[in-house]
Amino acid sequence: MTTDCLFCKIIRGELKTTFVYEDDKVIAFADIHPQAPTHFLIVPRQHISTLNDLVPNNFSIIAHMTQVAQQLASDYQHTEEGYRVVMNCNAAGGQSVFHIHMHLLAGRDLQWPPG
Ligand code: AMP
Ligand code: ZN
Repeated sequence: MTTDCLFCKIIRGELKTTFVYEDDKVIAFADIHPQAPTHFLIVPRQHISTLNDLVPNNFSIIAHMTQVAQQLASDYQHTEEGYRVVMNCNAAGGQSVFHIHMHLLAGRDLQWPPG
C-alpha cells in the first residue's frame, strides 16, 4: 500500500468508487474513461507497481485476476460474444497507473492489432 497511489486510495475507500466485485485479494470497478460498453479494472489489493515487479510468490494473483475477469464477463453476458483482457506495462505498453491492473473490455467488436 502506498500513500500516493491512485488505486491504493480507491482500495482504502478514499475515492468514491462503486465496486462491481471485491474479495480479500482483489477489487474491480468501472474504468472512469470507458473504451468499450463494458470496461472494468481488476486490481489486486496488494500494491505491485508493474508486471516487472511480480516475483514467484505473487504470480498467483494474476491467475486470481483472470478468474475474476472470467466471472465478470459471465455476469455481464459477454461469455459467448467474447471479450478482451489487457495488462499494460510501463511507458511503451501504455501504463498510466503504476499499480497493476487487468482491463476487461467487452460489448463491441474490438479491433486487432491495438493502437
Ligand atoms: P493503464 O493506462 O493501463 O495504466 O490504465 C489505467 C486506467 O485507469 C485508465 O484506463 C484510466 O481511465 C483509469 N482510471 C484513472 N483514474 C481512475 C479512477 N479514478 N477511477 C476509475 N478508473 C480510473
Ligand atoms: Zn497502489
